[in-house]
Amino acid sequence: TSPELIRNFCIIAHIDHGKSTLADRMLQLTGVVQARDMRAQYLDRMDIERERGITIKSQAVRMPWAVVGEDGIETPHALHMIDTPGHVDFTYEVSRSLAACEGAVLLVDAAQGIEAQTLANLYLAMENELEIIPVLNKIDLPAAQPEKYAEEIAHLVGGEPEDVLKVSGKTGVGVEALLDRIVERIPAPTGDAGAPSRAMIFDSVYDTYRGVVTYVRVIDGSLNPRERIAMMSTGATHELLEIGVHSPEPTITKGLGVGEVGYLITGVKDVRQSKVGDTVTNQHKPATEALEGYSDPKPMVFSGLYPIDGSDYPALRDALDKLKLNDAALNYEPETSVALGFGFRVGFLGLLHLEIVRERLEREFNLDLISTAPNVIYDVTLEDGEKVKVTNPSEFPTGKIGEVREPVVRATILTPSEFVGTVMGLTTERRGVQIGMDYLSEDRVELRYTLPMAEIVFDFFDQLKSRTRGYASLDYEPSGDQTADLVKVDILLQGDQVDAFSAIVHRDKAYDYGVLMTAKLKEIIPRQQFEVPVQAAIGARVIARETVRAMRKDVLAKCYGGDISRKRKLLEKQKEGKKRMKNIGSVEVPKDAFIAALSSE
Ligand code: GDP
Ligand code: MG
Repeated sequence: TSPELIRNFCIIAHIDHGKSTLADRMLQLTGVVQARDMRAQYLDRMDIERERGITIKSQAVRMPWAVVGEDGIETPHALHMIDTPGHVDFTYEVSRSLAACEGAVLLVDAAQGIEAQTLANLYLAMENELEIIPVLNKIDLPAAQPEKYAEEIAHLVGGEPEDVLKVSGKTGVGVEALLDRIVERIPAPTGDAGAPSRAMIFDSVYDTYRGVVTYVRVIDGSLNPRERIAMMSTGATHELLEIGVHSPEPTITKGLGVGEVGYLITGVKDVRQSKVGDTVTNQHKPATEALEGYSDPKPMVFSGLYPIDGSDYPALRDALDKLKLNDAALNYEPETSVALGFGFRVGFLGLLHLEIVRERLEREFNLDLISTAPNVIYDVTLEDGEKVKVTNPSEFPTGKIGEVREPVVRATILTPSEFVGTVMGLTTERRGVQIGMDYLSEDRVELRYTLPMAEIVFDFFDQLKSRTRGYASLDYEPSGDQTADLVKVDILLQGDQVDAFSAIVHRDKAYDYGVLMTAKLKEIIPRQQFEVPVQAAIGARVIARETVRAMRKDVLAKCYGGDISRKRKLLEKQKEGKKRMKNIGSVEVPKDAFIAALSSE
């Protein structure tokens, strides 16, 4: 297809504003998916995406769309739609997708108005100089207020409220007009067809049957089947075994030219060999300059991941290796815990990423897992000048500490004005510093804060939602670090440390954490033959204490008479239980108790 007939666009929206549903309607209207093959959220392939109703991996789809000119003549165009994830954890995937497009459909729920992620993604799109097409969705809803929100949007992106398209992804109303608008407004891609080829990798996905599928957008030249390609950053060379487009099923093509978006298969097995942000060129006629890449996603949140059944440890390692093939942002290394045995310390982009990885491990690899409380990375400088990066509370140095630095984020919160006080209360509790406040309209306010990332990863979002009855929305981005008065709180059973419960907390909150954890452990630790003190301590100083009273435990006490088989069963059951016991010093604790304490968080 010649570049003038191509349009590359993405849809940016706050989560739940209807991006996937709108994409479904487009697939149907352009005829690439037949009505009888249609299923909701067609492009959200992973089970987890479907169940949680979110898009994790971006997808690129080609659709034909003919526009009728003033002369009545139809001109067929090729639209490449790149779906993007809407959650803050996956912002880095959004920015890559944007870089492969000339335009963006800004989709806003007509009953909700602009939300924090809409703003964040809109600013990203503007930075990338994309043509923005503002659209109000869900106009079929009785609660829709298209006139009100059209003003809000026009105010934000410029232009007139009348220019804001009004559609329903559910009923299909207005979607044809939107497709026409995309062809009319979004610029065609430009590039040099005669130059040495350059294509940008904006995603790569591991597929069990096909190996790594690399998504590219051609900037200059072309890519053709069977030619040898080189990855410009790594110098790795491959033969192009297959080249094609998803429409939405994979369709082999004779090649990809300027402006086209499609996929490559080279037979490699690891997504790291097809690095997102890298430039693909021809091995024998290489380009001299690579395209501007993206920075690697950095893990922000760390957590210990342990198999509940210790013998699953090798299976967990294999499963992580497999997931890593598809998730370049996933990071892990082995660690051991006295309480939980062998496991891994895993780095994630954020809490949702953590949950998704854990769920995929449990579901796709049939593992039962427990994760320790998540923490961020701390930079600790000792008084003697030595520097330590702490990703696990147990690595927190015991020597004299000069300074502890913690990562902070810039957070944007949008809320109805009646909740401004509530939001301010919550952010103050979480050590937030307000840096700005703007009224978007009479009754909606944008608040900007600097907040410690550690405070955000602890149920901040849930708190924000519940205290504002679901009305406030949040977006954030990393914004350097700050010095903070942080301490490590240890939890001790009869003087022995239970490593999985150590936490790095602000000094003002250390006491609360200690009281909470000792009370919780007192409840779930079975009585022993002796009294067991449960303590919380900062270094050698005890800040909270509970006691598990002594008890003689005799499993046979309940059996009268001579029912031998029943007695034997009970004894066997107890033996079985013992296998799952962990010794902390001389205290025997069932592993389940630790698991219960960790999971009720
Ligand atoms: P996404 O998170 O932006 O991909 O949003 P989804 O497409 O998953 O939609 C979120 C929810 O809104 C789903 O329950 C959809 O059925 C619903 N929805 C999407 N579009 C419309 C629409 O035009 N009208 C109505 N009434 N509901 C819609
Ligand atoms: Mg979606």
